[in-house]
Amino acid sequence: VTVDVLVVGGGPVGLAAAIEARLAGLSATVIERRAGVIDKACGEGLMPGALAAVHRLGVDPPGRPLRGIRYLDGERMLEHRFSGVEGRGVRRLALHSALASRARSLGVAFVEGRVDDVALGAETVAAGGVTARHLLACDGLHSTLRRRLGLESSRAIPVKRRRYGLRRHFALEPWTDVVEVHFGARTEAYITPVGDDTVGVALLGPQGFDFDEELASFPRITRALGDAAPASTLRGAGPLRQLSTRRVAGRAALVGDASGYTDAITGEGLRVGMAQARSAIAAIVAGDLGTYERQWRCDTREFRLLTNQLVVLATSPLRPLLVPTMLAVPGVFGRIVDRIAR
Ligand SMILES: Cc1cc2nc3c(=O)[nH]c(=O)nc-3n(C[C@H](O)[C@H](O)[C@H](O)COP(=O)(O)OP(=O)(O)OC[C@H]3O[C@@H](n4cnc5c(N)ncnc54)[C@H](O)[C@@H]3O)c2cc1C
Repeated sequence: VTVDVLVVGGGPVGLAAAIEARLAGLSATVIERRAGVIDKACGEGLMPGALAAVHRLGVDPPGRPLRGIRYLDGERMLEHRFSGVEGRGVRRLALHSALASRARSLGVAFVEGRVDDVALGAETVAAGGVTARHLLACDGLHSTLRRRLGLESSRAIPVKRRRYGLRRHFALEPWTDVVEVHFGARTEAYITPVGDDTVGVALLGPQGFDFDEELASFPRITRALGDAAPASTLRGAGPLRQLSTRRVAGRAALVGDASGYTDAITGEGLRVGMAQARSAIAAIVAGDLGTYERQWRCDTREFRLLTNQLVVLATSPLRPLLVPTMLAVPGVFGRIVDRIAR
């Protein structure tokens, strides 16, 4: 049997791609190496655009409303509320199980296994024992298929631009309905309310930082957390910046983090990945996966530009000026947040 769309990687973007495929009347199989409900280091903020994309797929995961973004630096603070839209803080476990059950109910087939290679043919593509007309590699930041398809960039990322993320949850009622971004000397801390008694704390910074040590450098956060108990084990990811040369190789394409990633500083990974999943399936439906390349550039352009600029600033000697500058020109901050909200 030849399936229409083989998705490698059953993270949120792979599941979204499989759902998109079924909604377009195509058969879809997902191969995922991990069993059960999948967790991952993530800030877990579904920005309004990501929440709308998830709703479009017929999925409404439980979580806590996100009404804006607040930047804090020592005792300074600036905040912008999303206008007329809302995001949601959603635990990855909740997002995964909601997307997976929607995919199952639409008839997506699931195979457990790790894909190490891919065979590209003129009419079909095969991986993990499944033959398909098209393959979407949604295997995340360190995508094996990006390398196997010859789409990985050999450009080295300067060490100071290599950023890593660590996250842990704490058991307490959230004190905020916005994503708080606390700017420290070395790291930023992202606070996301994700449940009635769960707050997510994600830290982004240079290689090798210690979660507890860095967290202790944010007195506002430690005060707010009080003696709340950790509610998850520490998880990490990185380096975040990953580059691909192109997104399409014959009947295969890269989607989501696998297609290249800049940074989590704007919390847009899920929105951008969902948009790519939609574009890739639209290209397949239109009969020319090659057109996904141009659409991918369009879907990711602003994300790549803005995120890259923020990371360059955040990893430069100008880092301490970031929040004061935004405070001096709050209109710019407002525009950035409104853009992130889309
Ligand atoms: C610290 C941090 C904070 C973040 N905060 C936010 C945020 O607040 N909001 C937001 O929108 N985004 C955020 N992001 C980004 C977001 O987590 C990613 O963009 C998103 O998870 C990408 O989804 P994906 O499905 O492409 O990849 P993943 O979620 O990584 O899924 C890939 C899947 O592929 C599977 N897989 C890998 N290799 C293979 C293989 N060889 N064979 C079979 N299966 C395989 C993996 O097991 C995994 O399930 C953050 C990221 C980090 C690191």
